[in-house]
Amino acid sequence: MYKEHIESQLLHADRRQSVEHNAIHKPLHISAQYSFKDVRDLIAVFGNTPGYAYSRQGTPTVAALENKITLLEEGTGSVCFASGMAAIAAVMLTLLNKGDHFITSRYIFGNTKSLFSTLERFGVEMSVVDTTDIQDVQKNIRPNTRLVFTEAIANPVTQVSDLKAIGDLCEQHKLVYFADMTMATPYLLKGKDIKASLVVHSLSKAICGHATALGGSITNTGLYDWEYYPNIMEIYKAYPTQNRALIQIKKKALRDMGATMTSDTANRIAIGAETLTLRVQKSNENALALARYMQESPIFSEVKYPGLDTHPQHQLAKSLFNGKGYGSLIAASLREDIDLITFLNHLNMIVLATHLGDNRTLCLPVAPTIYAETPPEERAKMGISNNLLRISVGIENIQDLIADIEQAYTKTMQSNV
Ligand SMILES: *Cc1c(COP(=O)(O)O)cnc(C)c1O
Repeated sequence: MYKEHIESQLLHADRRQSVEHNAIHKPLHISAQYSFKDVRDLIAVFGNTPGYAYSRQGTPTVAALENKITLLEEGTGSVCFASGMAAIAAVMLTLLNKGDHFITSRYIFGNTKSLFSTLERFGVEMSVVDTTDIQDVQKNIRPNTRLVFTEAIANPVTQVSDLKAIGDLCEQHKLVYFADMTMATPYLLKGKDIKASLVVHSLSKAICGHATALGGSITNTGLYDWEYYPNIMEIYKAYPTQNRALIQIKKKALRDMGATMTSDTANRIAIGAETLTLRVQKSNENALALARYMQESPIFSEVKYPGLDTHPQHQLAKSLFNGKGYGSLIAASLREDIDLITFLNHLNMIVLATHLGDNRTLCLPVAPTIYAETPPEERAKMGISNNLLRISVGIENIQDLIADIEQAYTKTMQSNV
């Protein structure tokens, strides 16, 4: 059967789910509760019949976004949360018990690292490994290992994990492979392609794209056989095997944490997602051109971008992403004798901001901001120099981005004399 491409599916997803009055978009359902004429229907929703009772557990508008994320990942189902962090916390809190062990990449988002250290306080064991090296992952598997966590392209230094090899390893050891695919986006790589069991996206980034909402999602790819997973609660074993984990994550986490996505947020993210492909293509194209310019420019001493052939995982990234792109994140050190503050303050169009995956190009000095709580020796080990800049490349005209950097440099050098 002919299968439409994801660009088309995203645009037509709502109306194919029979929207009220044949509207093209799913409307904003703002009601906190849902009423029932027959109490048996109310009882059924508390059991395993799909439906809505109280908005903390979901709304039809959020469900429409979940449907789109499932289409993007070609998964079996998704659940949305109020932020990417809430989504990651939901999986870890509902699928791990005290005494369980998990393996995580060393190269992960700082806030995720913070969450994982909290799990350790509650008796969950953790090994922090180099996920660009499959041997390091393998040798840390223990009898009580339940899950392996990785990111696709690490922020801020852009390491690319050996994602497919980790997928094979997890399959072999029946471990849950939990992949944060935020920085790759489903356009470059789907969780399924690396044999991930569960995929998390921070929807706040490229999927929303316009920096107008925070959100997170968990998708079940359907590749893991949850029959093998020891921490599925008795009550959720009543559901078909494939859906058990996602139901447990949804029911338990939305109830226990209450980190619910609102209908308004779901609507903003769903509108943003319609242009995901166009935006990712453009930002990735810009990022490659900008990284190449920066590599040649005397303004920067070192440029890290998976699309450059000097990047340690360039070949790996090329094969993982099929040459479609290399992400929108560049890490670059400003030449030592250029004053960081003066240079950044002279940027005109590029925004000094901490977000990622926005339509606008954003720049941030890494050490004194997102790594301010990390001691300098630790930062050095992670490849974070004092003059490291993180640039999240947007969809502006590339010549304007280069011109902005050049004029900031000229003004900085003039202010030196
Ligand atoms: C931003 C981000 C998160 C957290 O998402 P929020 O929506 O900000 O909570 C998690 N993982 C990665 C890779 C991110 O970039």
